[in-house]
Amino acid sequence: MRQRLSVETYVKGVLSGDRTTLSRAITIIESSLPGDRLLASQILQSILPHTGKSIRIGITGVPGVGKSTFIEAFGSYLTSLGKRVAVLAVDPSSKQSGGSILGDKTRMEKLSRDPHAYIRPSPTNLSLGGVARHTREAILLCEAAGYDIILVETVGVGQSETLVKGMTDFFLLLMLAGAGDELQGIKKGIMEMVDVVAVNKADHGNEQAVAKAVMEYRQALHLFPETASKVPVQVVACSALEGTGMQPIWKLISDYYVQTSESGFLQHNRQFQREDWLREQIRQSLEDRFYENELVKKHITSADQAVRSGEKLPDEAAADLINLFLSSEQASKFSAKS
Ligand code: GDP
Repeated sequence: MRQRLSVETYVKGVLSGDRTTLSRAITIIESSLPGDRLLASQILQSILPHTGKSIRIGITGVPGVGKSTFIEAFGSYLTSLGKRVAVLAVDPSSKQSGGSILGDKTRMEKLSRDPHAYIRPSPTNLSLGGVARHTREAILLCEAAGYDIILVETVGVGQSETLVKGMTDFFLLLMLAGAGDELQGIKKGIMEMVDVVAVNKADHGNEQAVAKAVMEYRQALHLFPETASKVPVQVVACSALEGTGMQPIWKLISDYYVQTSESGFLQHNRQFQREDWLREQIRQSLEDRFYENELVKKHITSADQAVRSGEKLPDEAAADLINLFLSSEQASKFSAKS
């Protein structure tokens, strides 16, 4: 394990925009060692006043739609405007497969060499809930390090989108022309989350098909209820490969940012997201504590068996375990006092 620095060293390094220190600070928030959790919360507490000033953008779409190519093109466009861009990833596959759809090193080569960009691969070996917490914390660290725009990339497979939606201001869905909604994993729920649909690969003779798809999605979106932000969802064409469509997409996002800042939606949404984070944190902490409890560990296998065989109903077995947990917590509290 690499040596840890003092809280002040991390905080100073992050605030000065030093990328190496930023990476090391993110490693600490991703660590599950108890000492690191304490260090992480001290770092986060200190940098908190310097957070919140970025535009947080979620980007999703099925594998192969062109997410990394898009982020390379869009990120480079943004840095050419003088913006500082951080890229984070939420990759639910990295846990199950050990490999990562989003994390491989050959992606975004140009952007990764850009001094105004910072790319952090997806955290590995964490539950989805764990990834969510760490990504939220990494967003704060990147903001404190002076990044104006945070791109949070995720694969278009269900739950991870809801998580990314819950930590960003703006949600962009990349699609393909003529691939069929089912193939693109488009469920109604995802359509209801998005602020912009960008139909990618409008190049190499595919322009017509993309233009047609843009029209179709525009029509389809009329059937959807108004978004919470009250800003209408837009559909645009782009070519991540050729870098076309980046300027209009950026204009949509910056207009959205101005409009929702003025209407108060942006602030309201972030407050709501923080509240949600608190609820999630409570749930997660309680769960961790429950499963680490010695009495629970001792009795959980027999509870599992009783439920599996149909001898007991899950709510009864859960209530028994929770009572054991609560009584042992209570006992340890008393013994700590005496
Ligand atoms: P991801 O899995 O969503 O991250 O997709 P990638 O960015 O890895 O792209 C998948 C494939 O589509 C690669 O072969 C890219 O070169 C290609 N691709 C991405 N964007 C475009 C585009 O705008 N036009 C064309 N023609 N190909 C693209």
